[in-house]
Amino acid sequence: MEPKRIKRIGVLTSGGDSPGMNAAIRAIARSASAYSIECLGIRRGYNGLINGDVISLDARSVDGIITRGGTMLYTARCEEFKTEEGINKAVNTCQYLGMDSLITIGGDGTFRGAKDLSDKGIHTIGIPGTIDNDIVCTEYTIGFDTACNTALDAVDKLRDTMHSHERCSVVEVMGRHAGYLAMYVGLSAGATAILTPESPVDFEEDIFEKIRHARISGRSHHIIIVAEGYGKADEIAERIHQETGIEARVTILGHVQRGGSPTARDRVAATMMGSYAVELLKSGSTNRVVCMKDGKICDFDITEALQMSKELDPAMQKVQKLVSI
Ligand code: ADP
Repeated sequence: MEPKRIKRIGVLTSGGDSPGMNAAIRAIARSASAYSIECLGIRRGYNGLINGDVISLDARSVDGIITRGGTMLYTARCEEFKTEEGINKAVNTCQYLGMDSLITIGGDGTFRGAKDLSDKGIHTIGIPGTIDNDIVCTEYTIGFDTACNTALDAVDKLRDTMHSHERCSVVEVMGRHAGYLAMYVGLSAGATAILTPESPVDFEEDIFEKIRHARISGRSHHIIIVAEGYGKADEIAERIHQETGIEARVTILGHVQRGGSPTARDRVAATMMGSYAVELLKSGSTNRVVCMKDGKICDFDITEALQMSKELDPAMQKVQKLVSI
């Protein structure tokens, strides 16, 4: 049987923002327009769905946004949406607007909300958008590459001053409960050690002894990358100072990592995932998450996707220890 023709789709961004969300919105609006499907932008995450805060998105209204970080639809967290009453209000808005399908761009929480809506008969598709790359069903999330490069740029600058003063720099990067951002930034910055929630670190062997040894062999500065989910950067710096005698300075990069014009990788991933989501809706799919597996775009059932697991690449961890001498 031919899938029911969809007439009007909505798109929203929810949870933390990430560079490339705009590129995904653009791809959704343009792909919908190419298929003569109307597209609505829901503002401020699920709040906009509850309150009917909606704008029309035609092909021209997304001109120029591919270069911009953040999200033109704004993003928010919405506690009301986690209640039965909130979900029912959102469903009423969808029915009132004649919006049979919804694409949600965000993280795990956003997808849980999408599942609740699909249980109520709204066709939903999730797109992974977060700088943390912590969504278990997908190798890649929109915004990760830009955040890595933003953090790397900052660490490279810190390296100059650490070198001049012969200090150790302890840099905390974001990542929520995951160490992907820390691992990529640390490996690309040539860090002495990378502290992630996923991998245990022997402070004596992996940090203090390495610093002592590197100093004897002529290295003047050291960089330690700490994932925000690992622990307190201040305490780590204090321990390094006490154990090695080297002055250790802490830098917490914070929200700067969430901003900036998306890299080519993020623009391409967002464009391909956004367009793929429209194709899924067109073919009658619902309750799916768009993912990347072995470098290819695919999709999984939301419930199954949320139960998958993902680990830090053991090869990256091994190589990091080998090259950080
Ligand atoms: P992220 O999507 O980045 O993981 P959050 O966990 O903050 O961010 O979730 C974003 C929003 O998704 C929440 O503010 C809420 O509106 C909605 N949400 C989160 N968890 C649920 C849930 N279990 N059921 C329904 N909606 C949820």
